[in-house]
Amino acid sequence: MSELHKFLFDGLPVRGVLVRLTDTWTEILRRRASNSDTAGYAAPVREMLGEMTAAATLMQANIKFDGALVLQIFGDGPVKVAVVEVQSDLSLRATATVQPQPGLDLEAGATLSQMVNARNLGRCAITLDPKTKFPGQQPYQGVVPLFDDQGVPIEKLSEVLEHYMLQSEQLDTTLVLAADDKVAAGLLIQRLPMAGVGNLAGSMVSRENEDQIGLNESYNRIAVLASSLKREELLTLDVDTILRRLFWEESITRFEPLVGEQAPRFVCNCSRERVGKMIVGLGPKEAEEIIAERGDIEVGCEFCGLQYRFDPVDAAQLFVAPVQMASSGAESH
Ligand SMILES: [Zn+2]
Repeated sequence: MSELHKFLFDGLPVRGVLVRLTDTWTEILRRRASNSDTAGYAAPVREMLGEMTAAATLMQANIKFDGALVLQIFGDGPVKVAVVEVQSDLSLRATATVQPQPGLDLEAGATLSQMVNARNLGRCAITLDPKTKFPGQQPYQGVVPLFDDQGVPIEKLSEVLEHYMLQSEQLDTTLVLAADDKVAAGLLIQRLPMAGVGNLAGSMVSRENEDQIGLNESYNRIAVLASSLKREELLTLDVDTILRRLFWEESITRFEPLVGEQAPRFVCNCSRERVGKMIVGLGPKEAEEIIAERGDIEVGCEFCGLQYRFDPVDAAQLFVAPVQMASSGAESH
């Protein structure tokens, strides 16, 4: 089952979060793979989207924020968009739009650049969309390119996001991410803005904080330990074993893990009823034309890929007994 663990390094300005998405991640893959129009993700795309899903979950769990955190990559290669949305309660969904590209067989293996940064025009956006907004309030969005300060393409998603955290939050962050067809997992280690000075006002604190970037010895030591975590270990070992192996010389306080109903979990608000209403909205003439052409009506959810199929009898039923419109007022989106 999926789980998320938070911990602090005792007496040090360093905290950590570890996430393992299992059922949550395989449900995302299952829905996509069941879609006959798109089919499942090629292995490199799956790995990238899994790492994004783990990373977005870590970032949402690491902030106090009531709303959606949306991590997006806008690619200039065969992957046009990859998006993960994580709510404050850690319900999440993820999807990617892939257009095959002549001469590039994704299934045979592809780098991050080949997928989303073929001409160095790809970018990564992190959006914080508050649940309740003031009138006219825009969501906060930060965007970083997929290349380093010298313009060299970055081949690891974790480095792109570390770069973002340093630029936008002025926080040293170490991320280790991994995903396959069973597990999407990640470890985040972050330097806290200054231990115990949260109630001191103003510029002194932020100045001291900025001065500490890259220089805090405790953080640097723990970051090196965290970076030694290998992909295979992150994917296969249980959380206790990972933390013991990496940080056996450190003193750690662990918080109550988020498991079961509190764990990160897949949620998409699509439903057969909702798709039925959409078909009714097309009108009987257009619905009949689609059935005449294709034999049935198939609609894939754009957020999770799940496909809803209405055969001629199902479709006719929609128009004979229209879906109760009275219930639509109760839906949030
Ligand atoms: Zn859906």
